[in-house]
Amino acid sequence: MTEDKKPTVGELTASDALIVVDVQKDFCANGALAVPEGEKVVPVINRLQDLFVTVIFSRDWHPPGHVSFSTEPKFVDGSWPKHCVAGSDGAAFHPQLHVPLYAKVIDKATEKDRESYSVFDAGDLAEEFRGQQINRLFVVGLATNYCVRATVLDGLKEGFRMVVIADACRTYRPALCKGPWTKWRRPALSSSTPENCPDRSKTAKAQPVRGGLLIFQPIVIP
Ligand SMILES: [Zn+2]
Repeated sequence: MTEDKKPTVGELTASDALIVVDVQKDFCANGALAVPEGEKVVPVINRLQDLFVTVIFSRDWHPPGHVSFSTEPKFVDGSWPKHCVAGSDGAAFHPQLHVPLYAKVIDKATEKDRESYSVFDAGDLAEEFRGQQINRLFVVGLATNYCVRATVLDGLKEGFRMVVIADACRTYRPALCKGPWTKWRRPALSSSTPENCPDRSKTAKAQPVRGGLLIFQPIVIP
């Protein structure tokens, strides 16, 4: 037997946190903006939560008439159908997702005229993590090529070590994109429509680790 050289994330400690991005009904089966197999992340995330001291949940949480909706004359980036209107049934977390009472919930894209994908856009999350001596962030949820990616890129800019657990993410419109991991090293998201995704030269490989999870290895900053 050869030594197993596959990457691992090492031991999880209190300096690690899990960010669960937008696992909401509208992004799952039969939702207004369904991500294929979006609901399949739920059991994986439920298991993962037990490994972390700090778990944070985000919600896409739009006011009516949000600028990202294709019904709005000024819609931007994506032409989304109306989805995740604050307080609506579709904006609720997936009913099987475990959201502990003590968990921090971050609502994002709450301003009518401003689109926002990154969890870091809402509040002072980076400072809060630093205050808690958290330096490595594991990101899971929906969708890989939008809010998960934006959150990871912002986390890197803030100086955190970032780990994406691919097994607990799903991609929006994967058929129109050459892969969920395209353009991850690009700082800007302004041209992040699926049509602009193909950039295979920048595509990195997801690599399996023990336990059957997948880590997007190039995102891990040692
Ligand atoms: Zn949205």
